Amino acid sequence: MESEVPSLQTVYLVWLTGAGCNGCTLAMLEASEPGIEDLMLGNVPDAPRVVLIHPELSLESGDTFRNQMEQAAQGKLSPFVLVLEGAIPDESLAGQGSFSRIGTTSDGIPITTSQWVDMLAPVAEAVIAIGSCATWGGIPASNGNPIGAKGLEAYIGRDFLSRGGLPVINVPGCAPTGEGFVETLIYVFLHLSKLVPIELDEQRRPRWLYTHETYPLPPRVEYPPAAGFDLADRPTVNCPVPLTGWLRGFGGCARVGGACIGCTERDFADRLLPLSRPDPAY
Ligand code: SF4
Repeated sequence: MESEVPSLQTVYLVWLTGAGCNGCTLAMLEASEPGIEDLMLGNVPDAPRVVLIHPELSLESGDTFRNQMEQAAQGKLSPFVLVLEGAIPDESLAGQGSFSRIGTTSDGIPITTSQWVDMLAPVAEAVIAIGSCATWGGIPASNGNPIGAKGLEAYIGRDFLSRGGLPVINVPGCAPTGEGFVETLIYVFLHLSKLVPIELDEQRRPRWLYTHETYPLPPRVEYPPAAGFDLADRPTVNCPVPLTGWLRGFGGCARVGGACIGCTERDFADRLLPLSRPDPAY
């Protein structure tokens, strides 16, 4: 008797980049056990094989690369999951030019990131915003923001639902850990296969990832802060890094003498970054 559980054999991962630094791509590449390579080789039990369509990592380039994205938008490359890295600029502020684009039409007119989002998001099985720029706007949307940058949910609307019935899934961090992202991706696949439901919190973040409370802190402050360091006036942010480290339990911002800048939070650049200035007492 055939299983009634729909099984995804192959899923295309269409990766779009907006206004950002590509740090989330690097974070994703650092993931291991499993890494994105394991997914691409089909080595993760119960997860489909992933075909990565990425502006910097794909072997295809030029028209061939753009054709893949067009096919996805036309429903000919299915099923696919859309990932956005970077904020979405307001192209109406760009005058005769454009702020963020991938490829051109046959007439040579640039296709902007926001146009790709318009074409791809409605036909994607799931849509993931990776990093603080794609989720909440991040550094590009900080004070002074001359390009009208905003995060994906603000651009597309909080009521948006993907073809698989999911809202925009937010994985904030500057960058988030690659392992957290790959883990989220696998849960999305299992959810789409109706094997395990993905649990999101009120900010549409993977619920299990953003439970630990931490504090924006200056560099070289021992972590957790020693007695005597006043945390009373410091806001808390949710981030797994102080617990899990950056990679397989190692590294991670304040754990290695760096500062916690509160990067998983909305408006962190304006609101929380000043709290990570070096403290003269340390
Ligand atoms: Fe961002 Fe702080 Fe978490 Fe590091 S510990 S990822 S700076 S919120």
